[in-house]
Amino acid sequence: MFEVLVPARSPEILTPIVGSDRVAHLVDVGRATMSNLGGRRIVSVNSTATGGGVAEMLPVLLAYVGGVDVDGRWFVLEGDPEFFTLTKRLHHRIHGEPGDGGPLGEPERELMQRTFARNEPDAARLFRPSDVVLLHDPQPAPMAKWLADRGQTVVWRCHIGVDGGNQYTQQAWDFLRPMLEPYVDRYVFTRREYAPDWVPTERLSVIKPSLDPFSAKNRELSDEYCVATLQQIGIVSGPPTVALTFERGDGSVGTVTGSAGIAREGFAPSPTTPLVVQVSRWDPLKDMAGVLSAFANEPGCADAHLVLAGPDVASVADDPEGLDVLNSVIAQWRELDEHVRARISIVCLPMDDPEANAIMVNALQRHAAVVVQKSLKEGFGLTVTEAMLKGRPVVAAAVGGIVDQIRDGVDGVLVSSTDVAQTGRAIGELLADPERANRIGEAARRSVVAQFMPDTSLLLWAESINHAGTGNGQ
Ligand code: UDP
Repeated sequence: MFEVLVPARSPEILTPIVGSDRVAHLVDVGRATMSNLGGRRIVSVNSTATGGGVAEMLPVLLAYVGGVDVDGRWFVLEGDPEFFTLTKRLHHRIHGEPGDGGPLGEPERELMQRTFARNEPDAARLFRPSDVVLLHDPQPAPMAKWLADRGQTVVWRCHIGVDGGNQYTQQAWDFLRPMLEPYVDRYVFTRREYAPDWVPTERLSVIKPSLDPFSAKNRELSDEYCVATLQQIGIVSGPPTVALTFERGDGSVGTVTGSAGIAREGFAPSPTTPLVVQVSRWDPLKDMAGVLSAFANEPGCADAHLVLAGPDVASVADDPEGLDVLNSVIAQWRELDEHVRARISIVCLPMDDPEANAIMVNALQRHAAVVVQKSLKEGFGLTVTEAMLKGRPVVAAAVGGIVDQIRDGVDGVLVSSTDVAQTGRAIGELLADPERANRIGEAARRSVVAQFMPDTSLLLWAESINHAGTGNGQ
């Protein structure tokens, strides 16, 4: 186990986005939390310092926590490949999927315990008995007992979940329950529905993921910069006309270079061709295949170009499924009529420089006429919030957390996850009516600023920690 240091960031920088009243309120709550804590630290524990949504979100929130003088820390639990195979299995089961189909029994529980035992000497050195500890996702679950035995306050934050339990979610909860239930003071889920029924309502908080408006993924980019980025990587035709430098999180300067891997026939779309975009991992649950059919069969999409973009599959060595999904989407594309095929690009974005990749995703989302997220299941669609923050009209499946993110017809359009024709029609209608698309996009931006900025999450975290730390609801 090791500590990741996060430099503090003043919440004042959020003022142009959320306004001075919200920033002042955050500062007040920060002060009150600090005094309630009486010098106790808030320590988050997860199992990776880089990669994945939790590792992206934690440093952002911790930076602002430091900015209001609360002592927030981040410790990373270390594990071996066998442990991560098991925790990936658990991740799939909580999503209601079989994953690798492997067992979740006593030997697996022992593997969790053994992994923590190897981290324990570091934990004993790093933790103070007074720390309030936030355990993120299943990986650090075996620590709950160790912490509770030391008299520490324990909060379990589960970032995963899907609507409706099944045999697989039941297996995951049966496995995790004995590690958590006797020791956890408070639970935090993304939606109330994602908590298993043995979590008492009075110990449950609901906190939705927020976005960092200053990250490479979400920061403002000019139209020229977006077009030039897409030209550089080959998605849009023509040579880039502006320098593609950008500021990295550590203050150094990066440059968008290289090109994307693209399956396309004929010319790249011009900078003025309306783009319909879905950016996702190559995962069957993201239903890229469904987006392809919806676009290909919809007459209202005839003047637009579809971009299905995901990470370069070669970069994700532990995800063989990604390559299979990509190949099957390409095979489906090859079956289309030539004139339809020519309006579709299947894109693998380079991943060697994650911040440059984030700028590419940002440019693609900003340049899109319509963003689609036709998932079959979704805990909370970050791509949906990202596109909404950029003022884009989003057509998304009414599944999981997406129904909390979009009010149908107001700040986006919801479609049935299994209705390809309805998805196509919804995209076509937005392309045909740019005024409505703009109206929806503007409402989307306002909705994300109102609900999914860092201050919103931090206020909910403060409330949750106050409950856990003061013993309320125990
Ligand atoms: N993403 C990315 N590069 C890619 C494809 C996806 O950075 O090539 C990002 C995307 O912008 C989003 C995240 O991966 O921030 C996916 O989060 P989401 O909640 O939409 O789905 P998940 O992959 O977690 O199921």
